[in-house]
Amino acid sequence: MIQHSSTPRIGPGSLFVIAAPSGAGKTTLTRMALAQNPHLALSISTTTRPPRPGEQDGVHYHFVSVETFKQMQAVGEFLESAEVHGNFYGTTRSGIEALLREDRDVILEIDWQGAQQIRQIYPESVGVFIVPPSFAALEQRLQGRGQDSADVIARRVANAREELQHLDEFPYVIINENLDEALAELLAVFAAARVRLDNQIQRTQSLMASYLNRS
Ligand code: ADP
Ligand code: 5GP
Repeated sequence: MIQHSSTPRIGPGSLFVIAAPSGAGKTTLTRMALAQNPHLALSISTTTRPPRPGEQDGVHYHFVSVETFKQMQAVGEFLESAEVHGNFYGTTRSGIEALLREDRDVILEIDWQGAQQIRQIYPESVGVFIVPPSFAALEQRLQGRGQDSADVIARRVANAREELQHLDEFPYVIINENLDEALAELLAVFAAARVRLDNQIQRTQSLMASYLNRS
């Protein structure tokens, strides 16, 4: 058995934490990346937020009541959880670890508070922060998405200033101005993580061992 990293490993897959202020284009970019990269899998969060038009339970989120969320929290079902924009959100442990063991690269679309919790548990996780080219662009995108009321948009723009304070906690920062360029950058981060030495050693133990020829 080749020992390379001393950090706890779940499997050869990488865990990506993607954060962004609401409206920066995180959902758009991750959906496009998922369509192009078959190694990727998206973690579906649990939330107490009501579904937006077109959102489906079990597809976009697991939508639950505050009471159910608190019960799940109490029995330790969440790997991380946080209150964001007045609603609760959390990532369940089940599913993620199974996907990593299956050599899938798992994306968590979570806020900075959740990202801090994940960084503690999985120091090898890869953080990506997506930012808009300006506050004006962010507001325009939230309005253009047409899914939130004016007061919700105002709240999200105000919260974006707080979220952006945490961008330097992430090793990768993508400015989503031109969508194609931002997508290429995101795909490059995913591709680079996949071929990290630690991951390759886990994935191809015997091949690497045969090349390294260590006794
Ligand atoms: P988030 O998931 O970060 O809240 P979305 O992916 O829902 O953001 O994007 C918000 C809105 O901005 C959507 O209407 C989306 O089509 C649009 N959008 C995303 N990226 C760009 C871009 N590079 N240029 C212009 N509009 C964009
Ligand atoms: P939205 O309601 O627009 O889908 O998401 C609002 C915010 O909640 C976004 O910043 C998103 O990243 C965050 N979020 C979504 N799921 C989770 C989660 O499971 N955990 C945490 N901590 N934040 C989440």
